[in-house]
Amino acid sequence: NATNTWEKVDQYIKERLIPHDTVLENALAANQLAGLPAYDVSPTQGKFLNLLIQMNGAKRILEIGTLGGYSTIWMARALPSDGKLVTLELDPIHAQVASENISHAQLSELVELRVGDALEQLAQLDSEGVEPFDLIFIDADKPNNPHYLKWALHFSHPGTVIIGDNVIRDGEVINEESQDPRVQGVRKFYDLLADEPRISATAIQTVGSKGYDGFVLGIVK
Ligand code: SAM
Repeated sequence: NATNTWEKVDQYIKERLIPHDTVLENALAANQLAGLPAYDVSPTQGKFLNLLIQMNGAKRILEIGTLGGYSTIWMARALPSDGKLVTLELDPIHAQVASENISHAQLSELVELRVGDALEQLAQLDSEGVEPFDLIFIDADKPNNPHYLKWALHFSHPGTVIIGDNVIRDGEVINEESQDPRVQGVRKFYDLLADEPRISATAIQTVGSKGYDGFVLGIVK
């Protein structure tokens, strides 16, 4: 079936383009051991984020939704030594595992992991007068996506890249009757993007080891 093919093709790509990496593989193993859900980006997606950061020379990254830090490690590795990645995670167990994974990846100096509800953390960052970010990756609780987009714009400068994950959801995104609050959150996210003159965005559908989904990619004007 199709899913099977997507997985095999992802494996094919991974074997050719993504070298074995014990740090990343151990991070996934540690997540599994600690019972974290496997909602991390796939290796091909992680590398995509890494390349995107290198391509636009981002130095300051904000991630909303750390889980075990798998995407965090992919992204932080693309940063120069004076770069910074702030990542927000609600669940203290996820944060604990992430902190260990980030430390094993020797990225603790570049990464600031903040534990707590992202909306509270974002308000806190604001009150601390945080500098704008060059790239913002939104990957937490989908019902809050509209709020995260507003904060992302608030912490942006012209040229900031904003990425939102899981915006296709097996195609459920077009089901306006969906009772799934994640789908409705994603739909509101699109509506906000459509009405937001400060950002130019697109969405790309993807298939692979994580099924049929996709991401939004935008640039702040
Ligand atoms: N970016 C991660 C990766 O690719 O490795 C995956 C993140 S996972 C899809 C979503 C994470 O967001 C979970 O760890 C969850 O605990 C966290 N989360 C859920 N609600 C949150 C909230 N209100 N504030 C901060 N984090 C939240």
